[in-house]
Amino acid sequence: MKEDFLRYQAQTTPHPLAMEISHAKGCYIYSIQGKKYLDFVAGVSACSLGHCHPRVVNAIKEQAEQYLHVMVYGEYALSPAVTLTKLLAKHLPAPLSKTYLTNSGTEAIEGAIKLARRATGRTEIIASRMAYHGNTMGSLSLMSYEERVAPFRPLIGDVNFINFNAEEDFQYITKTTAAVVLETIQGGAGFIMPTNNYLQKLKAHCEQVGALLILDEVQPGFGRTGKLFGFEHFNMVPDILVMGKGMGGGMPIGAFTASSEVMDTLMDNPKLGHITTFGGNPVIAAAALATLQEITESDLMAETLQKEKLIRELLVHPLIKEIRGMGLMLAAITTSEEMATTIILKAQEKGLVLFWLLFEKTAIRITPPLTITTQEIKEGCGIIIDVLNEIKTQA
Ligand code: PMP
Repeated sequence: MKEDFLRYQAQTTPHPLAMEISHAKGCYIYSIQGKKYLDFVAGVSACSLGHCHPRVVNAIKEQAEQYLHVMVYGEYALSPAVTLTKLLAKHLPAPLSKTYLTNSGTEAIEGAIKLARRATGRTEIIASRMAYHGNTMGSLSLMSYEERVAPFRPLIGDVNFINFNAEEDFQYITKTTAAVVLETIQGGAGFIMPTNNYLQKLKAHCEQVGALLILDEVQPGFGRTGKLFGFEHFNMVPDILVMGKGMGGGMPIGAFTASSEVMDTLMDNPKLGHITTFGGNPVIAAAALATLQEITESDLMAETLQKEKLIRELLVHPLIKEIRGMGLMLAAITTSEEMATTIILKAQEKGLVLFWLLFEKTAIRITPPLTITTQEIKEGCGIIIDVLNEIKTQA
């Protein structure tokens, strides 16, 4: 399979891990060679309930028996999408009440940018340096990482950048700004938390100048920080909330939510202001609904913070400088880029899946399924400590 994978399927790096998968269940992934791997990455935060959670699988099966795709987004009322958006509204603070469902996180960002321009009649978008919002042209335009952006210029116009957590940069957000787009917790940059009431102050400044605040919760979304969304920790509410990844329980989805007043500007003048064929697909929406129900009806969110505490207690080692992030959205900061790569590859040999972050190369991603057990956390952290001890002895 590996040979065909490399030959026929487009690659995104010259050296993919190319693990050959047989099946996956709970927090474990099994290779076709019969090796079992404990998953500390959860498909980069997408498999929030682990692999093949029965509630998600049943919802998919039941919906697949009823109908698959029937009509383009927005024309027909399809129960999984209607129930999902209604339940989201129930769990979100006012004025976030109307949700547009997309097929991916980046597409939700594209929709949110268009919505902000349409609703304000302004064009300037301000993004944060070292943020990641996706890879389509609009989302890519919000990336300040020159090495990754330069080959694809020209990007969309009127995008400017500020530094995350820097209140002195509020001066650049003015009456010509349509929206400020931020990750609530900066993922690729190394799981950087907002500090000193930054988000609350930023929202107040945006209100003063009439700019909308878009928060990208594609990674924290659906419970990963111990609350359904990360912003709930920071005493503020964004104007547009973007989500994806973990909301689908392993299925491809994204969404953006706003007040009905703001959202309704997309449906007229022009009509069809933002359209998609498959957004809100009933099978995918059924999986997301089951995921939302499971996360909000169980103790998973409360347990997330206890699990974070345990990981922090277990991962104490001279080669780990710091554990950043919150809940089960954590990054272990090691001593160098090479060290991070060595740890990730050696852990994989010992049956533990870890992964890199996009920009902070000294970091190791620890974002297991929310369903991970105490025993599995001990097993995975034990492997990391074994690997670190081996590296230390060899040095
Ligand atoms: N925003 C953030 C914060 C992300 O982490 C990602 C995906 N890594 C995206 C947007 C884009 O999501 P997708 O890959 O589903 O397009």
